Amino acid sequence: MPTYKAPLRDVKFVMNELLGAPAQLSEMPFYTENETADADLMAQVLEEAARFVEGELVPLNRVGDQEGCVRDEQGNVTTPTGFKAAYKKYREAGWTALDADPNYGGQGMPHLISNVLVEMMCSANVAWSMYPGLSHGAYSALHAVGSEELKNLYLPKIVSGEWTGTMCLTEPHAGTDLGMIRTKASDNGDGTYSITGTKIFISAGEHDMADNIVHLVLARLEGSPEGTKGISLFLVPKFIPTADGSVGERNGVVCGSLEHKMGIHGNATAVLNFDGARGWLVGEVNKGMNHMFIMMNAARLGTGLQGLGLGEVAYQNALAYAKDRIQMRHEPRVSSEPADPIIVHPDVRRMLLTGKAFTEAGRALAMWLALSIDTEHHHPDEARRKEAADLVALLTPIAKAFMTDNGFAVAVQSQQVFGGHGYIQEWGMEQFVRDARIGQIYEGTNGIQALDLLGRKVLMDGGKKLQKLAGTLQEFAEAHEDDEVIGDYVNQLGKAAQQLGSLTMVIGQKAMTGSEGADEVNAAAVDYLRFFGHVVYGYLWARMAKIAQDQIDAGNDKDGFYLAKVQTAKFYFAKLFPETKTLAATIKAGNESLAVDDQAVFGWEHALAHA
Ligand SMILES: Cc1cc2nc3c(=O)[nH]c(=O)nc-3n(C[C@H](O)[C@H](O)[C@H](O)COP(=O)(O)OP(=O)(O)OC[C@H]3O[C@@H](n4cnc5c(N)ncnc54)[C@H](O)[C@@H]3O)c2cc1C
Repeated sequence: MPTYKAPLRDVKFVMNELLGAPAQLSEMPFYTENETADADLMAQVLEEAARFVEGELVPLNRVGDQEGCVRDEQGNVTTPTGFKAAYKKYREAGWTALDADPNYGGQGMPHLISNVLVEMMCSANVAWSMYPGLSHGAYSALHAVGSEELKNLYLPKIVSGEWTGTMCLTEPHAGTDLGMIRTKASDNGDGTYSITGTKIFISAGEHDMADNIVHLVLARLEGSPEGTKGISLFLVPKFIPTADGSVGERNGVVCGSLEHKMGIHGNATAVLNFDGARGWLVGEVNKGMNHMFIMMNAARLGTGLQGLGLGEVAYQNALAYAKDRIQMRHEPRVSSEPADPIIVHPDVRRMLLTGKAFTEAGRALAMWLALSIDTEHHHPDEARRKEAADLVALLTPIAKAFMTDNGFAVAVQSQQVFGGHGYIQEWGMEQFVRDARIGQIYEGTNGIQALDLLGRKVLMDGGKKLQKLAGTLQEFAEAHEDDEVIGDYVNQLGKAAQQLGSLTMVIGQKAMTGSEGADEVNAAAVDYLRFFGHVVYGYLWARMAKIAQDQIDAGNDKDGFYLAKVQTAKFYFAKLFPETKTLAATIKAGNESLAVDDQAVFGWEHALAHA
């Protein structure tokens, strides 16, 4: 059975030494007035969270995978053994309310802290973590754009965890292209709407863990324009609440079936049939896509955390196995056993260090973003709020895609450390691989994240957000170019940051050449995001190495924690960061080699070929 220990030492390093979070949060009256950003309190909460996650969620991970969710003929869904009881404990302990607004029963803790809780839950049991995860997304959208009436009725229930939430976008013929959705809304004339249509792949769409489920549904109001400009957001509860907030009559939404899937078996992925279900408009008519993005942005960072969490737990288990498993001799030998532990073989060390390097940089990025979200929402200075919002917008697609791609790669490499045993269910490694795969696909595929980054966040903005970040990086690089330990790293980093700028210009120029230009952007986007991701991780590794070296020099490295940081940074810059060189070449290669002859290469001719 795999094990998991929450990486609290590293979390504290990032929180206090890398980000200086307590000082930053103390500039925000929201946290000082609520007394929720005190360093000791935050540390205490994280320790409590680790206890819950390790004790309650880890043991259910395998059960969830093996049992999955079961739907009866009426459309009721039973979650795996222990899931419901663990959720009850979770909400009774107040975890659903952790970073929620105190006006609705929340505790008002920083997003930074809930971000760490989510990472831990994803390591422990990613399928289970999605039930509260989806609720949090629904909370965010409703909190941002819902009417006072809806907020007062629904938010306290979602915050207390009595009711959970979902996000209903996808339809059989409309996934990436939500402009094609067919779910209809008609005005009942009494402030409610009738919602009819089918949504598929709805995570946590039906289950037995809560008294009610609050679906946030994209639908087209009768008479609204085609495409994304005609989509509105509706709240459709499973049970219609009475005025006092208790659960009332059953609404016209039923789970038609559950998907059988590769991983995250413990999470119910539902087909939901809406048949004249009563719904309430959330926000403005035809602004549904904008409103949904509030939810999706939170969910994208959450999905990135799935990659991070699964990478972490897979790495931890691979590390333990590599110390224990003896196989083949190493010269010089390190053991009196007939063979040496595999951890001595350089290729095994490469796999382990890849896990450590991607995971620790991912944690630093996720926590940096989470603190930036706190700043965006609560800093008293408008300029600081805007700066933080820009950074969050720019880095969210990277957090989603780079962290899930690396999380999957780390899960696979950690499985590889186990040799054939990694392929056998008993060790749990193959579950991590299966569970990690979906992060690259949902919440907008990683290809779509790349288009969002390059198209919307960089090119459409004239490169302003990128320049601001690149400026910060360059400044850091220049300040440390003569540093004995990180001088070489910042040199590489500075060059890559400059190259990111020049690659952006090249793609930007190509993009201005009509429809072919759009294909050029499309062809470059995935490699561009990966290049950008390395630049961000490189910046974070260089900073972490600097902090760690200073501590070593000051004689503060009692347990080798800082030495490990310095040496992992060295590995990152020697073995992982150079991927940027290949990526620069493939970005520059553009669309030319992709514009092959359809008939000859794919045996396909499109309808307009002869038009
Ligand atoms: C387990 C699971 C849980 C899910 N949970 C939810 C949920 O809770 N709520 C919800 O609404 N949805 C959910 N989804 C749906 C998920 O978000 C979609 O599957 C995903 O967004 C992709 O849509 P699609 O499957 O229709 O693929 P398609 O949109 O058909 O895409 C197919 C491929 O084409 C690529 N592609 C499409 N357009 C372009 C383009 N312009 N340029 C380049 N490449 C392109 C895509 O990247 C992808 O590789 C879930 C899916 C799964 C499998």
